[in-house]
Amino acid sequence: MRLKDKVAIVTGAGRGIGRAIAIGYAREGARVVVNYSRSQHAAEEAVDEIHAAGGRAIAVRADVAQMDDHAPLIERTLAEFGALDILVNNAGVEFNEPVLESTPETWDQTVAVNLRGAYFLGCAAARVMARAGGGKIVNISSVHDVEPLRNRAIYSITKAGLLMLVKSLALELAEHNIHVNAISPGAILTDMNRKHLTDPPRRERLLTQIPMKRIGDPRDLVGAAVFLASPESDYVTGTTIYVDGGLLLL
Ligand code: NAP
Repeated sequence: MRLKDKVAIVTGAGRGIGRAIAIGYAREGARVVVNYSRSQHAAEEAVDEIHAAGGRAIAVRADVAQMDDHAPLIERTLAEFGALDILVNNAGVEFNEPVLESTPETWDQTVAVNLRGAYFLGCAAARVMARAGGGKIVNISSVHDVEPLRNRAIYSITKAGLLMLVKSLALELAEHNIHVNAISPGAILTDMNRKHLTDPPRRERLLTQIPMKRIGDPRDLVGAAVFLASPESDYVTGTTIYVDGGLLLL
């Protein structure tokens, strides 16, 4: 077990990629805080699945866009499991909005979750990790951190911001033995894009852009997420791993 006795918070872990990572971490021996903001039932189901497999987990509500929710999330983790070794900033939102119709509301909402939430929750977690002698922060970014996507300008801008967030935190936190990295997924079938990815013509068009010739599954992210949280990555910081079936090659 590569994460035995570690304690991890995974944000937005009731559904999609976060859920797969939370379950994958528990399988590797971590005690997991399954964070959710709205999907309480799904988060409790993820916890049940972890318990059924012999793991330990709790579901904790916190909206990462709300600064006041950060400290209670961390305090609850420490109260329940006595440590915080790993933070996965997975929570994310995206809105379909052409540039010419962009609104400040979409900007504020997307930045508040994808970037400000990841940054300040990362800082709060890092203060705990620094006191304990180290930790791992994994941010779930996107291939759109380097490649723009039509009608997703604000989303792509927040993900590009994560690239520098990772480098900046990694630079300053290395002396505290805190590793900060990102995983950038390609097209992974989740609620975020189910409508788009299950539409046959769109799906066929997308598959022509993926050398591995398939849409990803949330479980495809687990290997990289475990690696970046485990001692195997102790000499890896400030970098981004692309898990995209080769999408960025074309
Ligand atoms: P998803 O199924 O729509 O899940 C999004 C998750 O984010 C949900 O668990 C949701 O929790 C959580 N969330 C949203 N706002 C939140 C908030 N304010 N506070 C806490 N949690 C919040 O999407 P997904 O595909 O798994 O996305 C996960 C991450 O992967 C995102 O950062 C996304 O940008 C990234 N990503 C996905 C793809 C893809 O193809 N699917 C590709 C590249 C990157 P609640 O339901 O409880 O609100």
